[in-house]
Amino acid sequence: MFEKILIANRGEIALRVVRACKEMGISTVAVHSTADANAMHVRMADESVCIGPPSAAQSYLNIPALIAACEITGAEAIHPGYGFLSENARFAEIVKEHGITFIGPTPDHIRMMGDKITAIKAVKEVGIPTVPGSGGAVSDEDAASVAAKIGYPVLIKATAGGGGRGMKVAQTAADLPLALATARQEAKTAFANDQVYMEKYLQRPRHIEIQVMADSHGNVIHLGERDCSLQRRHQKVWEEAGSPALNARQRDEIGAVVTKALKKLGYLGAGTIEFLFEDGQFYFIEMNTRLQVEHPVTEAITGIDVVREQIRIAAGGTLEMKQEDVTFAGHAIECRINAENPFTFVPSPGTITAFHAPGGLGVRFDSAMYDGYRLPPYYDSLAGKLIVHGRNRNECLMRLRRALDELVVGGIETTVPLFLELLKEPDIINGDYNIHWLEHFLERHKAK
Ligand code: ADP
Repeated sequence: MFEKILIANRGEIALRVVRACKEMGISTVAVHSTADANAMHVRMADESVCIGPPSAAQSYLNIPALIAACEITGAEAIHPGYGFLSENARFAEIVKEHGITFIGPTPDHIRMMGDKITAIKAVKEVGIPTVPGSGGAVSDEDAASVAAKIGYPVLIKATAGGGGRGMKVAQTAADLPLALATARQEAKTAFANDQVYMEKYLQRPRHIEIQVMADSHGNVIHLGERDCSLQRRHQKVWEEAGSPALNARQRDEIGAVVTKALKKLGYLGAGTIEFLFEDGQFYFIEMNTRLQVEHPVTEAITGIDVVREQIRIAAGGTLEMKQEDVTFAGHAIECRINAENPFTFVPSPGTITAFHAPGGLGVRFDSAMYDGYRLPPYYDSLAGKLIVHGRNRNECLMRLRRALDELVVGGIETTVPLFLELLKEPDIINGDYNIHWLEHFLERHKAK
């Protein structure tokens, strides 16, 4: 096992990794920008290294500084968290070239899944169902005929996509030129790559994803599903395990398809296969080759520490459990507590003037906030994650309301009022929502 791990990230996820390391007796190295000198992840780690100025490009994305930090501190492995360099294949390669272990999949798998077109081709070959679509990059000249063949409405997506950027719907042929140009422009700005492809635009799907873990000894298991249908601008705000729309048989079936496929691909580490789910059918949209923000809901119902397993796998260990040992107990919901206006989502960085984390049975609060902390404006606005676990979904909803009432974050705006509103909605209480539900709710709210 490793003696020392460097965490190439910040905020709640850096803390999350520190916690797993502490329970495994592994020392931790935090890295930070000058803006994060007083951050909680720096305080909780055993050592810390300043890697640059506030801008992420010069700090958390600064590969030479990260490698140097490993060399200075003697860290043997790097955990990338999510975001930043976590899905950068070149980074994973450079880490390896320096004799450091990258806690994640192989660079080849990161690269394969990082490009949506190669990902779709690869998973299709190993038996995973995909959305009807172009199957490859679309040129301006071919766009109209490809769209007609798929059938409107179509969704134009960036092949380098992520975070919902570079994605535009064309309802009819008349919308196509503008949608195409806008998607390309957005993709170019966000990813320096304006290549796009096309998919059938599904009208009322749910977003259901499967968590997988694979070790270097050929064992692959799945940890069930998460329902992340409550989204705004294609960004998740609330996640559940299990999905209110899936039964045990459907879970077992898709789980078996996915584990078989990843075994064929020789996948290593933790990963998530994301699907849209409509009328009982699963359609692959993408694979994330990293730890996800919403992994705690899976941990809540399975009792498995996903980060611990990631570290054990990277060190060459065998998965601690077999598929038949994985059981699902009760229900869990995560709410993303963002430092944003709850209804316009305009970021609200600033100094936290009062802070109290909720507690009690079945409540987990993952956050790097503390009283007096100055939330810097340079990074994403996720300030905390409230995760509640109950014996069933109803208990979970009651507990969520109770925990949201207990949470105090003063001095900044947060998304808490949004969740309190959502908990009054019959559709939410009944689990009856799809990926468009939240946008419609927000429109109704604005009109009030
Ligand atoms: P990104 O990598 O930018 O997050 P994804 O492919 O994961 O992009 O899609 C993000 C979200 O966009 C999905 O969860 C879903 O809400 C919506 N979406 C993606 N593909 C489709 C589709 N073919 N039809 C309808 N909605 C889609």
